[in-house]
Amino acid sequence: MKTLYEKKVVKFGGSSLASAEQFVKSANIIKAESVRRYVVPSAPGKRFDGDTKVTDLLINCYNQSVSSGDWEATFDKIEERYNDIIKGLGLTTDLSGEYAIIRKALAEGTTLDYTASRGEYLNGLILADYIGYEFVDAAEVIFFDENGKFDASYTNTVMAQRLSGKRNAVIPGFYGSNPDGTIKTFSRGGSDITGAIVARAVMADIYENWTDVSGFLMCDPRIVDNPRPISIITYRELRELSYMGASVLHEDSIFPVKIASIPINIRNTNRPEDAGTFIVTSTDGYKTDDIITGIAGKKGFSVIRIEKDMMNSEPGVGMRVLKVFADLNINFEHIPSGIDTMCVVVNTDDVKGREYDIASSIQKSVNPDHIHIDNNMGLVAVVGRNMAGQPGTAARVFSALARKDINIRMIDQGSSELNIIIGVDESSFTRAIKAIYKEFCN
Ligand code: ASP
Repeated sequence: MKTLYEKKVVKFGGSSLASAEQFVKSANIIKAESVRRYVVPSAPGKRFDGDTKVTDLLINCYNQSVSSGDWEATFDKIEERYNDIIKGLGLTTDLSGEYAIIRKALAEGTTLDYTASRGEYLNGLILADYIGYEFVDAAEVIFFDENGKFDASYTNTVMAQRLSGKRNAVIPGFYGSNPDGTIKTFSRGGSDITGAIVARAVMADIYENWTDVSGFLMCDPRIVDNPRPISIITYRELRELSYMGASVLHEDSIFPVKIASIPINIRNTNRPEDAGTFIVTSTDGYKTDDIITGIAGKKGFSVIRIEKDMMNSEPGVGMRVLKVFADLNINFEHIPSGIDTMCVVVNTDDVKGREYDIASSIQKSVNPDHIHIDNNMGLVAVVGRNMAGQPGTAARVFSALARKDINIRMIDQGSSELNIIIGVDESSFTRAIKAIYKEFCN
């Protein structure tokens, strides 16, 4: 097939490599374009509802090895998963030596990270064999520093050098190595990050992330039936939406490709004909009439309202209030304020049981007239690059909510006009999202 791109990095998620049948689909996708040169696999995921991901089996194995010592039966199941894939693909790959090394490590007391990482490692060996690409162990090209932090610059140098002479390679996702050579994993879902790191190192034209959905939807399908897909979204919009609860991609996987302005294309292995969602730095050249790009939301917020007469003429009140939260190590989300009031919106989980400490510290620090704490607020974010400079967007959001008799407890709009955030009672949260979707997306 002819394509505009010269070099692609393609990452396949667990569901895309869960069985021999899924391997065949993924391999067909890789082979359909010769520019799909660098492949990052996850470990085998669930084959059906109620199935267990290999990474979870490995974690169970580790836990059993430290508790009862009874891990062998679980490891037998893992071997069976891989052997089924190998057999189903008609390969002669022999992983018995690899299994023996992992079994020995478990018997002698290895780490959780090493054990969990073997899911990607073994899957990478099979995939490399199946598609005839060279296997490059992630432990040799992805590095963490002595504080356990991902070392982006050293990784980029080594990975770029290692892959520069290679036409094709399979680099397993999810892990790298510590300075002492031991294995360290990213957080769960971290193969997305590996894909982004590889894309940056080889300066790919695009990072294709193959999963089991055809990209992002404009809102949560558990709230709105069949929401429309998003064809193009900017990194900044995506960050706003993911922060507010939308998830498809590991959040940290954005940064390596964003730095290098490499677009991400989320694609569906089971429907390769769908274009999916493009995540881009700038939408220049892409036109859309949609005013909003997506709607996301989260429940579980509390509002701490501080009232003090003449607050507006007393410098430093805001700073002292926020210092209380910083000293108590509580993150705040928003700080809507009035002339004599200041509200601090926080996650309820972060303040539960600490209300007395918070109130007494604020009392000492700014001596307010009243302090109230209200719980059960949901935040809804309406996100869209096209809202900027478009009069009437906020009015449409508010009218849609008013028509459904939904009370707005808080409003926050950043001056970039990229999003409007609305606080509503948790009891009206779902209705609020449906009403806004209907107003803009139907
Ligand atoms: N296999 C790992 C997990 O299940 C990493 C990944 O799939 O991205 O979290």
